[in-house]
Amino acid sequence: MEFNGNAGIDLHIHSTASDGTLSPSEILSVARSSHLGAIAITDHDTINGSKEALKIGIPSSLKFLTGVEISATPPPVENVPGSCHILGYNIDLENKRLNESLKVLQGARKSRNPQIIKRLNSLGLKITINDVLKEVGEGQVGRPHIAKAMITKGYVHTINEAFDKYLAQGKPAYQDKYRMDCSEAIHVITAAGGIPVLAHPFLLGLQSREIFRELVARMTEMGLKGIEVYYPEHPPDETIYYSKLAKQYGLFMTGGTDFHGSLKPDIKMGFGKGDFFVPFSLYEQLVSF
Ligand code: AMP
Ligand code: ZN
Ligand code: FE
Ligand code: FE
Repeated sequence: MEFNGNAGIDLHIHSTASDGTLSPSEILSVARSSHLGAIAITDHDTINGSKEALKIGIPSSLKFLTGVEISATPPPVENVPGSCHILGYNIDLENKRLNESLKVLQGARKSRNPQIIKRLNSLGLKITINDVLKEVGEGQVGRPHIAKAMITKGYVHTINEAFDKYLAQGKPAYQDKYRMDCSEAIHVITAAGGIPVLAHPFLLGLQSREIFRELVARMTEMGLKGIEVYYPEHPPDETIYYSKLAKQYGLFMTGGTDFHGSLKPDIKMGFGKGDFFVPFSLYEQLVSF
């Protein structure tokens, strides 16, 4: 298949290396059959998805960026109730510092899982770590896998219900985990030759645009290079605001669906809920860096 420069791109995809349900190989197939121009596999705190994709080989019709999505602690600007995630693109997967830093985050995730299970047990839900591991494959356990086990056991009907009742921040089975400081995440990605990008700003859950501007200003000083302006859950007026801020601070704009396969069944790779499109030119700008 010929390469198509008018194709859309998806720079935010999770594989079975974290909590996506498609393997890297299946992701490459879907990207190709959906005629996407470029993708990045950005698993939570692991680069094994990207490693695997490169090992398999990238179809000639597709551009591929190595990626990761690091869970970070935001700079202390005001209350940040939501998720501060830093995406890293075009990283050197063999970089020693990056691999060591990710190992620490993976260790923190491992020790968090039994704590969540313990909380669920004390709430009366009979669920074991083995129940959860049955839902995972080779990859690392995340809260969505725990949610799946809760569905299998009949305690909830949907992933969202599991989060809303038990697993989300502020809910009774929520257990915090160690996160990398935002400045460290930015530096680790940069030191691995990569481009650090603030993921899905709307999910930071900020009270005002002014707080977001302050956050972007601080992160830009730390070395942030981009904002994930295009994201299926971003309201249109916020998308416009994020793109203005990106321009103002000299940051790249990126976009992706946060594809998780059947874990987020309403989100299609590259197309979100159907009306989502990220132009190939954003990929070209990113790789020109
Ligand atoms: P973890 O990496 O274990 O902290 O889990 C993060 C994952 O859980 C993300 O990929 C989200 O897609 C998912 N998630 C986080 N909050 C919610 C929520 N309120 N409802 C459904 N899924 C969520
Ligand atoms: Zn996820
Ligand atoms: Fe995220
Ligand atoms: Fe994500």
